[in-house]
Order: sequence, then structure tokens, then C-alpha cells
Amino acid sequence: RKAKAKMPTYKGLENYHLEEKMGDGAFSNVYRAVEIGTGRRVAVKVVRKYELNSSQAGDKHLNPQFKKKPRVTEVQFHLPCFRANILKEVQIMRGTSHPSIVKLYSFSESEEHYFLVMELMEGGELFHQIVKLTYFSENLARHVILQVAQGIRYLHEERGVVHRDIKPENLLFERIEITPSKNPIHRPYDEDKEDEGEFIPGVGGGGIGKVKIADFGLSKVVWNEQTMTPCGTVGYTAPEIVKDERYSKSVDMWALGCVLYTLLCGFPPFYDESINVLTEKVARGYYTFLSPWWDDISHSAKDLITHLLCVDPAQRYTIDEFLAHPWCNAEPAPPPPP
Ligand code: ADP
Ligand code: MG
Repeated sequence: RKAKAKMPTYKGLENYHLEEKMGDGAFSNVYRAVEIGTGRRVAVKVVRKYELNSSQAGDKHLNPQFKKKPRVTEVQFHLPCFRANILKEVQIMRGTSHPSIVKLYSFSESEEHYFLVMELMEGGELFHQIVKLTYFSENLARHVILQVAQGIRYLHEERGVVHRDIKPENLLFERIEITPSKNPIHRPYDEDKEDEGEFIPGVGGGGIGKVKIADFGLSKVVWNEQTMTPCGTVGYTAPEIVKDERYSKSVDMWALGCVLYTLLCGFPPFYDESINVLTEKVARGYYTFLSPWWDDISHSAKDLITHLLCVDPAQRYTIDEFLAHPWCNAEPAPPPPP
């Protein structure tokens, strides 16, 4: 066990007692905290203002290879732009209300920082659970992915928002209950591991096993909420823009396919040591259902993944097509929304 790290203090955040660092992203720290006075337990995302000024920050976050020191002129030019980005993240989060989306309670700023006070997701990242479990059974994968899909459906269909950063690090468990692997919902590949008593996140009631989408840092409003037409399309917009907006939702569906693939086998569909080879594989949509890991996984699950990891965005499943697929509707049924 690591010694308890000393928590930093932030000017402007005196109302909260920081307890533990829960995560650090490319340009933020997230803490578990208690609101002084009310005792409410929350998560606080602290974003440093002075690191927001890189024009490349968004790309850096996606791909460390893109690190590039911006020239002074760029910094000056992009500063207001980036400020708008965090405000956009806040605005999008404020506008959402769905059981599969992390709630934003409040937003404030000091001279040096932005503070996003959010619903606390104590169970941590889906990413860590995949690492811990090696992979999920189909039932557990379904339980998780349907919740994510409901969140995406809400964003796409009701809010006109594309998340653009769906990945296991941004999918958080509300609570994890450790249950021994004898639970039939988990089917470990490694028989030895089963005997040792593998642990899984429980899927019972009371918030256990509930998954929510976090991190709207790259998200974008693309669809007019009222008319459900592309934003800003008023007759003068070029066709490639209109097309772009139409297909922009499909980036989340590709990501959903990658998450589902990873849940079921424990490794991502596209991987290579070399970033160039990896990029090429993604561009061609080159992946396989690698034996022996995929041998026992249902045809239905593979069929669903095939319709998500499909290079042509016009052919790729939409969220409604995803939710209508037989694999998603197999028993056991997903838990009812609260
Ligand atoms: P970034 O844009 O820097 O990636 P995120 O919003 O994804 O920031 O937060 C970084 C990490 O902090 C997440 O991957 C997760 O581990 C943790 N985290 C974020 N929000 C919460 C929350 N509401 N509850 C618990 N942990 C969180
Ligand atoms: Mg993140």
C-alpha cells in the first residue's frame, strides 16, 4: 500500500475537502472530495488553465505521438478557442440528464483553474475492470455495453451530441461489488484463475454494476435538437460538411464496437507496436476474431461487432440498429432504468 499522498489545495475550492486522486487525464486531475457543510461526496475535476493553451492539446490527448510545441503566435491564437472548449464540455454536460451519463453538479473557476464538481463514480474505470478480469462473459459485457449504448442513444437522438471519446477510461462504474467468480456470469478463459477465485463487479441492484459515460472534453453538438438536422445547415453549407455531420455520430458507434470487442476478449481489435502500422490497420478496418480467445464467443456477438467495426460509416450500425440487434436483446434482460 502506498502512503497516503498529501492532497493539494486549490484557491477557489475551499468548499471541498479533497480525499484522494482518482484519475489524471491529459490536462486535468480528478479527486474524490467531500462538500464541506453538506457532507455530500463528489468527484472534482480540476483543469489547469495555463495548460489549455496548446493548439495540439486535443490531439495530444488522443495520441501522445502528436506532441508538438506550439509557436507563440499559435498559443495566442488558440487560447480563447480552448477556453471555449472547456465551456463547451460544461455546457454539454449541463444539458444532459440520463442514468448512463455522469452528472455535473456545478462549475466554477479561479484565476488558474476550472472546477467541475460531478457525481462520484466510486467503481472507477471500466478499463481497470477489464485489466483485473482479463475479460467479461457475454452476459456481463451485455450488461455493461447496453448501459453505454443507452447513454449514446440519448446523446445522439435526444441531444444531437457526439461524444467522440468513448473508450474504457471514460466509462465509469458507479459502484463495484466484489463477487467470487463462481458467479455464473463470469466465464474465465484461464481455468487456474477460476480456482483462485477471480473477482467480478456484481450486477445486482442498488447501483452495483451501473456504468456511466464521462469526459465530454471532446464532445460536440452536431445535430439540432429540435429539428434533428445538422447544426448550421441553412442552404449555404458545403456538401462535405453536411455529409460530415451526418456521419459524425458514427465515430461513437465505431468506438462502441471497439469497447465491446475489448470487453469480450480482453484486448483491443486494433493494436500494433508501430503507430504507422496501427493507423493503417484502423484505416483498412483490419482486425480478426483471434483464436483461441474468440472460439467460444457467440456468432451473434461477432455479427454485431462486424456491423460496428465497418470502415464505411454509411454501412455502420446506428445506435438504433445496435440496440435492435438480437445479441443486445438476448436474456438476461438489462436492469430496468431507475
Ligand atoms: P480527461 O479529459 O483529462 O481525460 P476525464 O474527465 O476523463 O479527464 O477524467 C480523468 C479520469 O478521472 C477518468 O478517466 C476517471 O478515471 C477519473 N474520473 C473522471 N470523472 C470521474 C467521476 N465523476 N468519478 C470518479 N472518477 C472520475
Ligand atoms: Mg478521459
